[in-house]
Amino acid sequence: MGSPVILDGTAYSKEINENLKERVNKIKEISGATPILASILVGDDPASVTYVRMKGNACKRAGLESLKIELPGTTTTSQLLEEINKLNVNDNVHGILLQHPVPGEIDERECFNRIDYRKDVDGVTYASFAKVAMNDMLFGSCTPLGIIHLLDRYNIQIEGKEAVVVGRSPILGKPMAMMLLNRNATVTICHSKTREIKEVVKRADIIVAAVGIPRFIRADWVKDNAVLIDAGYNEGNIGDTDLENIKEKVNILAYTPIPGGVGPMTIITLIEQTVLSAELKFGLK
Ligand code: NAP
Repeated sequence: MGSPVILDGTAYSKEINENLKERVNKIKEISGATPILASILVGDDPASVTYVRMKGNACKRAGLESLKIELPGTTTTSQLLEEINKLNVNDNVHGILLQHPVPGEIDERECFNRIDYRKDVDGVTYASFAKVAMNDMLFGSCTPLGIIHLLDRYNIQIEGKEAVVVGRSPILGKPMAMMLLNRNATVTICHSKTREIKEVVKRADIIVAAVGIPRFIRADWVKDNAVLIDAGYNEGNIGDTDLENIKEKVNILAYTPIPGGVGPMTIITLIEQTVLSAELKFGLK
């Protein structure tokens, strides 16, 4: 069996970071301003705390500043909306990230949609989604867009391919399907009500697993020469595909490792879109 290509998100995100540092320096030269990503964290969910810290570190690596807004778990929807309003009109802020998930009592969708689409560098608003769906993207949801960048980096052909996306969440599966469609793949979306899912996945040249169930995609669901993208991130560095078995039993063309595949691409895409937002503001793009 030939060795599949490892789609190395860690290595590629480092390459992108080098380019971002140059872009940030140019923004500083021209405008005197440093791009700022504002992150809102509501409550103290440990995973969310970690993600916000990782994103803050990624800002530093690229030369951006980060502004962290920490709100108590008792925050109401209207209080959170007020914080977002303030960031929308804050001229120094170029990107706004509302760390997901927010506590259950908050209307997350209303809060996402309050973010000015010109600062929606996490690509979570209806406005951003509509632009992606109409193939007129300004900012895309970071995980699917990071996946597209990774496929491009490794010259994986998308046009004309059968792509099967397993999962249809608003931040992952759905925008992923739209982005693949924009690139002229033939796209099928699977979800919890899909029948004969194994047969559907087996048609795929490109599989994107975004289910949230450890090792959900099994070896006998995958055809030879498929490209396997695993966005899953379950405890113990386990993805949504049964990667070890798949690699052993199927002659796959390429795959994303866990960790080091989709995760780093998500974060660098957030930073890249913040830089882009600042460039647009200062007329550099
Ligand atoms: P989510 O909102 O829970 O959505 C899961 C999707 O999977 C839903 O559309 C659901 O279908 C579908 N599903 C559930 N059970 C299924 C089944 N038995 N058969 C087929 N489909 C099924 O999850 P998410 O936020 O999209 O995240 C998905 C995965 O990606 C998770 O492992 C998460 O940790 C990971 N993730 C990683 C990153 C990263 O940066 N690497 C970022 C975000 C998420 P229904 O719509 O029918 O319920």
